[in-house]
Amino acid sequence: MSDDNKAILVVGGGISGITTAVEAAEAGYNTIIVERNPYLGGRVAQLNRYFPKLCPPYCGLEMNFRRIKTNPKITVYTMSELESVSGSEGNFTARIRKNPRLVNEKCTACDKCVEVCPVERPNEFNFGLDKTKAIYMPHEMSFPMRYVIDKNVCTGSSCAKCVEACKYNAIDLDMKTDSVEVNVGSIVFATGWNPYNAENMDNLGFGKIQNVVTNMMMERLSAPNGPTKGKILRPSDNKEVKNIAFVQCAGSRDENHLIHCSAICCMASLKQATYIREKAPDSNVSIYYIDLRAPGKYETFLKKVDEDENVKMIKGKVAKIEEDSATGDPVLTVEDVEGGGKIHQTVDMVVLATGMEPSLKAGAAPGVKVEENGFISLNGQSGGVYSTGVAKSPGDVTTSLQDATGAALKSIQSVVRR
Ligand SMILES: Cc1cc2nc3c(=O)[nH]c(=O)nc-3n(C[C@H](O)[C@H](O)[C@H](O)COP(=O)(O)OP(=O)(O)OC[C@H]3O[C@@H](n4cnc5c(N)ncnc54)[C@H](O)[C@@H]3O)c2cc1C
Ligand code: SF4
Ligand code: SF4
Repeated sequence: MSDDNKAILVVGGGISGITTAVEAAEAGYNTIIVERNPYLGGRVAQLNRYFPKLCPPYCGLEMNFRRIKTNPKITVYTMSELESVSGSEGNFTARIRKNPRLVNEKCTACDKCVEVCPVERPNEFNFGLDKTKAIYMPHEMSFPMRYVIDKNVCTGSSCAKCVEACKYNAIDLDMKTDSVEVNVGSIVFATGWNPYNAENMDNLGFGKIQNVVTNMMMERLSAPNGPTKGKILRPSDNKEVKNIAFVQCAGSRDENHLIHCSAICCMASLKQATYIREKAPDSNVSIYYIDLRAPGKYETFLKKVDEDENVKMIKGKVAKIEEDSATGDPVLTVEDVEGGGKIHQTVDMVVLATGMEPSLKAGAAPGVKVEENGFISLNGQSGGVYSTGVAKSPGDVTTSLQDATGAALKSIQSVVRR
């Protein structure tokens, strides 16, 4: 890249980071995306459908991947992280660490290596609901469409069965960590979020009761490319789920866990209620909430779901979830806020509407300040450093897209000013 000092560095290749990079590149600026996963798309790649239209998120992602592929102004580093930054607005020097994928660009995604690999690992893309081999494709629509080896479980050159099976010389078990230094004019942090660890809420049984899952696991259980090929089957015995309960604000708006409202969990549960209702006409859904938040344009969606008489929305605080050891069914005890007293309900599966926790920790990147809730501060970054999307505040994809376009403009201004 001849004019590196005019480039914009985007840390995080989820929908917000991709949008910032594509918008800036299409305005004529060189952009560099640094993504720590082996693929782009972030959390959106794991969703089954988007509320409120219930369309598959992959349409939008694919369009962006095409824009990236055809634009020479965008450089993408996957499996990479920002190691250090020095300098100031208009002239930063950033060092990027490139972790070894152990599979090079000659990979044709033929899958021959997977057939011979003897080692299995939990599939983190599906939250451990199934397994992959040590060499694997992160998911079937991965961009880039290239396999990767999990070096934490691969037994290496003493095995090398995959190397033998690969006709294209695409596997290099000796590939080392590498790094690259770039000069950039501005930096945008689009590092997004991680699901809050539901095991922290002892009373809700996650991690102890198999049929208590999180909302992100529910996205994968419902997705046609998920561990159950889109059939909503519960983890303990693969029984089809017909009676389901959602527990809202699981960890959010709680000073012992996440102090913020995660903004989208109510909409996510309403959406997931439609996944169940669509698959099984005789299914029943209970949503336990303290406040149901479906602001602005989303109110129509809330009303539509509420019209379904098999979906019950109950104002109540879930005090505990236990397991019926004979059946594996979760049993909820709920404080009934409106009716008074306690509700006891046995269901096939419980979904915890767990909130979003910022993935970038305080002090994790130079020049980045965070708020009390852990999200990157809206104000007070050093000049030329910006943040966008859920890295900045919890929200939906539309908000993230709008915000990312704004971040592209701000980062261009930093480049032009100097
Ligand atoms: C259960 C659930 C369902 C949802 N459903 C919907 C829906 O239907 N419709 C909707 O509009 N919204 C939905 N959302 C919200 C949606 O997921 C977010 O709006 C979206 O993920 C925000 O994108 P982002 O790019 O800001 O963050 P992310 O998707 O988190 O992307 C951030 C990227 O940055 C990378 N990264 C993080 N740290 C680093 C680092 N240090 N170095 C390099 N890379 C890094 C990550 O690997 C990731 O790829 C849902 C959320 C949940 C919890
Ligand atoms: S690494 Fe080789 S064998 Fe494996 S999918 Fe790629 S080309 Fe095929
Ligand atoms: S070398 Fe590693 S990835 Fe390749 S087949 Fe053996 S265990 Fe699997």
